[in-house]
Amino acid sequence: MNNLDDKLMLQELTSVITRLESVLSGLSQPAIDPDEQTKAAALSLVSQWQKLFNGKSGATPSAATSPQLAAELELQLLRLQNSHDKLARLQQLGSQKLRLAASLLQQSDANPADSAELLTLLSNGEASHQGQLWQLLDYYQQALDSLLSKKQQCEAQQHQLSSRLQQLVEELHFSGPVAIELTKIRSQLLQPLAPEELASLCLRLIDLTIEGLRFERKNTKQFLTKIHTDLDAAHQYAAITLSEEQSLCDARAHHGQHIAGELRAIGEHLFSQDNEQLKADIAVRMRSINHILVQNERLHEREQTLLQRMVEMEQQISDLKQEAGHFQQQLSTQNDKLFVDGLTKIYNRAGMDQRLEVEYRQWLRDDKPLCIAMLDIDYFKDINDKYGHLAGDKALRLIAKTLQKSLRESDFVARFGGEEFVVLLNNVSQDNLEKPLQKLREQVKNIPFRFKEEPVTITISLGATLFKQGDSIHSALERADQALYRAKHAGRDQIVMD
Ligand code: GH3
Ligand code: MG
Ligand code: MG
Repeated sequence: MNNLDDKLMLQELTSVITRLESVLSGLSQPAIDPDEQTKAAALSLVSQWQKLFNGKSGATPSAATSPQLAAELELQLLRLQNSHDKLARLQQLGSQKLRLAASLLQQSDANPADSAELLTLLSNGEASHQGQLWQLLDYYQQALDSLLSKKQQCEAQQHQLSSRLQQLVEELHFSGPVAIELTKIRSQLLQPLAPEELASLCLRLIDLTIEGLRFERKNTKQFLTKIHTDLDAAHQYAAITLSEEQSLCDARAHHGQHIAGELRAIGEHLFSQDNEQLKADIAVRMRSINHILVQNERLHEREQTLLQRMVEMEQQISDLKQEAGHFQQQLSTQNDKLFVDGLTKIYNRAGMDQRLEVEYRQWLRDDKPLCIAMLDIDYFKDINDKYGHLAGDKALRLIAKTLQKSLRESDFVARFGGEEFVVLLNNVSQDNLEKPLQKLREQVKNIPFRFKEEPVTITISLGATLFKQGDSIHSALERADQALYRAKHAGRDQIVMD
């Protein structure tokens, strides 16, 4: 090989290496998939490379060795650089991210086999397209992040909405078909619901509330219309009676004058006329008096009719009174219902608010100890899940009854919502507090429940606190709730006092 050949070959090699470099750097870019053009360029370079050396079979190894070595070196360097980049990137992303990715993948609904494969690929530094995979994971992670956070948010919101709706249903006191529908919705709300189902229940509840209000309004309207008609009739009777009475009065006055005139005339004639004339006159006067008496009789009959009408009117008014009383009774029952829990028949949250307000003001005034306790049935969801919500309802009723029976007359218990209750104990010092609360816990625990022929023990956890200096109702309730939370975390079936 002469010098010129060598020089040409070196030039050729340099240009090949430069192009190879650019192609390789394109290939080594992890985030970019080499396009068809780059691949073709790489292939043509490889064949050019092979031609260059294979075609020169007679070339001395020394002449070919240096550019070949240089190229190979360059190639190795690039590969090394590429590996190094990958490694650095892997390290940078680190095991923490990998763990996060794993947990996200586990939480996601992705196919576990796919997730495992993806994780293996990601943790493998030699994996092809690792950059893209990491990038994909980044997007995946972001999507999952938002999806999961949305999902969690959504679940929390759903749960909250469900219990709020449940409480609302319990506070709606309608009668008739609406009440039946509400009972059905209440049962539905006790089951886990998809967001769409929850939304449609919301709409149904709105419809039912409107329907219930319409029904009530219609009843009230009917009642008012009836009162109006009755009053109208009574008014007409009264008007007729009045005018009748007026004319009766006039007639009586007229007849009174008439009779008096006649009697006066009789008296005058008795003294001034002889006997025959007197007889004739008396006969005339007698006829006149008879006529007056007949008229009087008629007046009497009119009076009787009037009296009858007045009796009827009185009856109507008393009917009206009775109806109004009935309506008032209904209103007050409805009002009572506002404070009573439909399921357990003990006070509801509104009832508790009212009582708590009274007790609190008394506590501020008298400073006698006042204890508030929050109770929550343990693992109540399991009861519903295992034995159905009707069994759950039955348990709630029985527990409420037991709580009420276990308390003193002056104490107070209300259903706070769901499977939670609030108890107020007044005039109990810190030292004497444990006993009545333990009694509540034990009495509930001793209820011999039987579901599906199985004996079941239900327990409650309690968090209790005394009202303290500077407390508001809210702060005391909050403290009791925190204590309840601690009782739950300490293993349930126990009391925590704060
Ligand atoms: P924990 O010991 O932590 O309190 O567990 P839990 O299962 O009692 O608590 P969670 O809050 O998970 O579930 C409460 C359950 O109470 C879910 C709900 O369906 C049920 N529940 C609430 N109100 C009623 C009701 O009126 N009737 C019935 N049958 N179940 C109810
Ligand atoms: Mg609860
Ligand atoms: Mg519970």
